[in-house]
Amino acid sequence: MKYLGIEPEKLKVAVFDFTGCEGCELQFANKEETVADFLKALEVVNFREISSAGGNDYDIAFIDGAVTRGDEITRLIQIRKQAKLLVALGSCACFGGVNKLKNVLDLNKVNREVYGKDPKETLPARAVKEIVPVDLEIPGCPVNKDEVERIVQHLMWDIPFQFPVYPVCFECKQRFITCIFELGQLCLGPITQGGCNAPCPAGGLGCYGCRGPVADANYDEFFTIARERGFKKREIDEHLNFFGGFEGVR
Ligand code: SF4
Ligand code: SF4
Ligand code: SF4
Repeated sequence: MKYLGIEPEKLKVAVFDFTGCEGCELQFANKEETVADFLKALEVVNFREISSAGGNDYDIAFIDGAVTRGDEITRLIQIRKQAKLLVALGSCACFGGVNKLKNVLDLNKVNREVYGKDPKETLPARAVKEIVPVDLEIPGCPVNKDEVERIVQHLMWDIPFQFPVYPVCFECKQRFITCIFELGQLCLGPITQGGCNAPCPAGGLGCYGCRGPVADANYDEFFTIARERGFKKREIDEHLNFFGGFEGVR
């Protein structure tokens, strides 16, 4: 990965899993065409999913998952102290993700129903930034590997990364996809940050906003269109709440 004959220093990274499906960290080992070069650019110091290395001498910590237990809070604070740069990786880490769906429930009751006489510790799900300061958030469920690769290159050269300022609709139209609204479904594409290349509309499913809000989203216009198309508040709220990225938007 030389540029103008200069070999950048390898990034000393650690990847830590909290509450989530671990799908975002799995993206580090994904995409056969580039994974060998991608991992060559990194010195993986700690990453349970792909390496037996378990060191604590890292500069960049990627956090995958939401925080839902007391021991996770302690571990996250410790990681924050060590890391020069702390990156929230994926919707669970950035917004709480699908884990936040449980926050509206009576957790004691649910715990008893699921685990009977052996209840497990479970706190309301929180995003990483609700516990410690976060330097960079990479949204998505899972994160987009191409985007992660680009971000790592920017980190290597210490150049700020610019996330897309356009909504999912922009990429959807570039792909000539029939609008999901025309198929009678709700889609959060107009208010969601692009960068995923619209895989959900391409597969015939409305966007659920896993990348969170696009900058300067026109919510009033979106709600007006959704209501005109016959979607009820409950259905709109279900979409907005799904990944936790639209908290406070109604
Ligand atoms: S954001 Fe999605 S893919 Fe990533 S850990 Fe959470 S549930 Fe899994
Ligand atoms: S399907 Fe969704 S993302 Fe695509 S143009 Fe329609 S509203 Fe936008
Ligand atoms: S279309 Fe929406 S839900 Fe699907 S990956 Fe993109 S942002 Fe996430």
